[in-house]
Amino acid sequence: MTLHIPFDNSYARLPAGFYTRLAPVPVKSPGLVAFNEELAKSLGMAPGAPEDMAKVFSGNLPPDGAEPLAQVYAGHQFGGFSPQLGDGRANLLGEVVTPEGQRFDIQLKGSGPTPYSRMGDGRAWLGPVLREYVVSEAMHALGIPTSRALAAVTTGEPVYRDTGAMPGAILTRVAASHIRVGTFQYFAARRDLKSLQNLFDYTVARHAPEAETPTDLLSHVIERQARLIAQWMGVGFIHGVMNTDNTTLSGETIDYGPCAFMDSFHPDTVYSSIDRQGRYAYSNQPNVIVWNMAQLATALVPLMPDQDAAIEEFTKLVHAMPERIHAHWLNVFGRKIGLEAATPEDEPLITGLLARMAEGQADFTNTFRALATGRARDQFTDPNAFDTWEIDWKQRLEAEDDPQALMRRATPSVIPRNHRIEQMIEAAVAGDYAPFDRLMNVLATPYDDHADDADLKRPPDPSEVVQATFCG
Ligand code: AMP
Ligand code: MG
Ligand code: MG
Repeated sequence: MTLHIPFDNSYARLPAGFYTRLAPVPVKSPGLVAFNEELAKSLGMAPGAPEDMAKVFSGNLPPDGAEPLAQVYAGHQFGGFSPQLGDGRANLLGEVVTPEGQRFDIQLKGSGPTPYSRMGDGRAWLGPVLREYVVSEAMHALGIPTSRALAAVTTGEPVYRDTGAMPGAILTRVAASHIRVGTFQYFAARRDLKSLQNLFDYTVARHAPEAETPTDLLSHVIERQARLIAQWMGVGFIHGVMNTDNTTLSGETIDYGPCAFMDSFHPDTVYSSIDRQGRYAYSNQPNVIVWNMAQLATALVPLMPDQDAAIEEFTKLVHAMPERIHAHWLNVFGRKIGLEAATPEDEPLITGLLARMAEGQADFTNTFRALATGRARDQFTDPNAFDTWEIDWKQRLEAEDDPQALMRRATPSVIPRNHRIEQMIEAAVAGDYAPFDRLMNVLATPYDDHADDADLKRPPDPSEVVQATFCG
């Protein structure tokens, strides 16, 4: 049986200036190490034999109907503008449309050099590939918009990184699209109005069919991103590289690099080895996304008939965004402490707990989960600090119907902790995929109790703590 992917490509119908057509660069000896059968089925794919799928997902055998290409885009990286980035190690095979009518990109990541590779080798190694596989699927199971992982293959070729020769790998990811703020910036910076208009029309058709104007699209994206960032905050997620080329128009999380879920709570937490200033620290994410939306607004201005009026209108939208993020944040964190619909009056209760958690080095996930299922006070270096908070909280909960059930749905029992990811990668590099399989299995139902998986729930021992994460 051969793999069948029902391609229905639209990006490849856009003009040549949007991408470079090129096939993935074949690899020496492809081996399938992971395949997401459930996702494949939901996309209308018929899986094939493992050897067959290894060939397709390594890029060695472009499947029927694929029109492989590397997309071009620009972006602000750590605040500095690069007028041309683009898929330097990715290849869009094409798109599929689900029976429900949703269109998804099928993209290989790590598929070889492209005209946009700059100094890079176009490749990825097994560690970051499995990290993205596990974390993106975990995000999906948590109910947070994200790209997904369809397959992972090893290439049989070494990839050279600071850590030495690492086993090469390729991830197949699925996303609502890979249109980024940086895609708009690319055409805006070149003053290519025709292409900018074209991209606008394409994006509206794909992501916001109800939008009629650039203003409509901007408010649509602002709302999606406001909700997304609040959801990240709610699970202690730190993206790590919120550059404008990693910020989507669809509102999905993409580009899992040095990302991480927090263990003990502190608002200033940063893991990424390249984020020395803490630009993308946990609590700075709401500020950064507003800045990124300001860049999208700037890129959309040339499409407006009256540019002065547009600047005024867009500025208002961007300035209103912090309030939108805050509204979502209040809702997310309200639910985490058992409040169905938290109001601004409830905010001191939330911030009071977070302040005590930061002070008391409380584990982010386990503290909130314990509010529903256990003894949260045990999470604090000084449990008395929790006790004083608990009095007010218990009183407020009297007005709620079933706060326990709500909290169980608002805080997972298990997240992909950094040290478990690192251990899983180490095992996989040695040929043992049992930790990978186990993580995938447990993280598929993160809101269940998982009583038998206490080891996956506990924070790292001092010897297990991961100090920094890397891009790969
Ligand atoms: P990122 O910060 O991961 O979003 O990547 C920024 C840019 O660098 C994108 O244009 C990527 O395609 C490119 N890039 C990252 N890693 C590599 C690599 N190993 N080879 C070529 N290009 C890369
Ligand atoms: Mg990127
Ligand atoms: Mg990346």
